[in-house]
Order: sequence, then structure tokens, then C-alpha cells
Amino acid sequence: MSSLTFLRLDPYQIQPRFCCVCGTRIATNEDGRGSRPICDLCSTRVRCVACGLPILDLEPQQKIDGGIRACNSCLPDLVVKASALGRLFRIALVALDTALSIRIAHLKQVRLVSRTEVIRTGRRARLEQGGSPLDIAATASQDGTILVRRGERRDSAFGILCHEIGHMWQYENWSNVDALDPVIREGFCEWVALHGLLQHGYDQQARKRLKRRDSVYGAGLRYFVELARVVPEREILYGQVNFPQFLGRIKEHFRT
Ligand SMILES: [Zn+2]
Ligand SMILES: [Zn+2]
Ligand SMILES: [Zn+2]
Repeated sequence: MSSLTFLRLDPYQIQPRFCCVCGTRIATNEDGRGSRPICDLCSTRVRCVACGLPILDLEPQQKIDGGIRACNSCLPDLVVKASALGRLFRIALVALDTALSIRIAHLKQVRLVSRTEVIRTGRRARLEQGGSPLDIAATASQDGTILVRRGERRDSAFGILCHEIGHMWQYENWSNVDALDPVIREGFCEWVALHGLLQHGYDQQARKRLKRRDSVYGAGLRYFVELARVVPEREILYGQVNFPQFLGRIKEHFRT
């Protein structure tokens, strides 16, 4: 009886919390109540760009850009070298050829860039073409070059590359791409990316994209997944579908 009363009075004394980064015991007035408790000192440390946890020891190879760092456990999953990005691009091309028989006649270059450069280039692209901020957060196409942020997760970079290959295909095989509803233009590329990701076994990234709740990429992807149930794949690939007719129906269906 008395031990139960004790539990209710001071639970922190019985179950002390430890910082998930440095392991020191957390005082009750620190931010130690979440599932990943962090002490005051660690909450001011530089955080890993991939997992978001504070980094204990800065080592030279953990530097991504300027003030951006990655922790040692995340580093192997990130694209930090141009050669790795080039390899990933070739794998993406093979995956999409296998999954959808997509072959590009005029390949764009791929380039790893700093995050600030992507944002700068992206803003310019948005001003000129009315692109979407989501696209810009990850990548921006300019002068025939696909830009991918240094430190992007490998599966995410793979999705970006497949998406951009989708655009290349679109411009080579569809007409009036720029006049299309963004939901169709971007949704098609997300659908292409979905096939590439599943083909390569990046199921988690595929699921992540399917769950996006935004009205262009997420809605567009779900639109094309629905479309592929009723329209032959080949007609979708060559843009030979009466999109507006289907779009109204499916937009209505996905209104949240
Ligand atoms: Zn700590
Ligand atoms: Zn990390
Ligand atoms: Zn796009």
C-alpha cells in the first residue's frame, strides 16, 4: 500500500530518464519526458540532418554543407559523393526500363549541390516556371541538369531521380506538358517514381510517397494509382488518356 502511494508521489525518482544522446541522467526540469529524452546540453548541439539527433563528436567526414552535419550511423545511408549519385542515376534508369520500359533519348546531367544552392536555384526556377515548393525543397531542374542536395538519403535521392526521369520521359513523349494541370504533370512522375522505388526494393520510401497528404504530389500519385486500375499502362505512359475527365472524378474522391 505505502509503496503505491510513493509511486504516485514521485514517479521520476523511481524511473529516472537518461539522455538518448550522451546517456547522462536528466533532471526533471529538463526536456526528458518524450520517447527520445534529451538533456539541456545536448539540445544545443548540432543535429544530424537525417535522424535529427544531436551529434556528440564532430568528425571531418560528417560535414555535409556549411553548418549541416550527419551522425555516423546515418552517414552510410546518405549521398555525399558525386560518383554515388551518378551510380544511383544509372540504377534508376535500369529500374524504370525494367518496370515500365521507360527509355530516355536525351539524358540530363545529375549534380550534387549544397542545400543553399538548391534553394537559390529552386526559387529562380519557381519564378520562371511556377514550380511547386515541394519539388524545390528536394531538387530543381535547370539547364538540363538535375540537382540533388548533398546529404539526401539514398532512397529519397533515388525517388527524386526516378521522378525527374519521369519528367524527361514526359517531355519526350507527351505534348503540351507545361499546359497540364500540375496534379497530372507531377502525379505522373510520382507514379513513375513509385514503380522505380518498388522495382529496386525501396518499399519504405514508396509507402512514404503514397502517404503524402499534399494536393499536388500526394493527390497526383494516388490519382495515377487509381487511373492505372482502369486505363492500360501504355496509354498512361504516352499520355493518351482524357485526363480532365478522370481528374474531376478522382479529385472529388480524394477531397479531405
Ligand atoms: Zn545529453
Ligand atoms: Zn543521424
Ligand atoms: Zn516534378
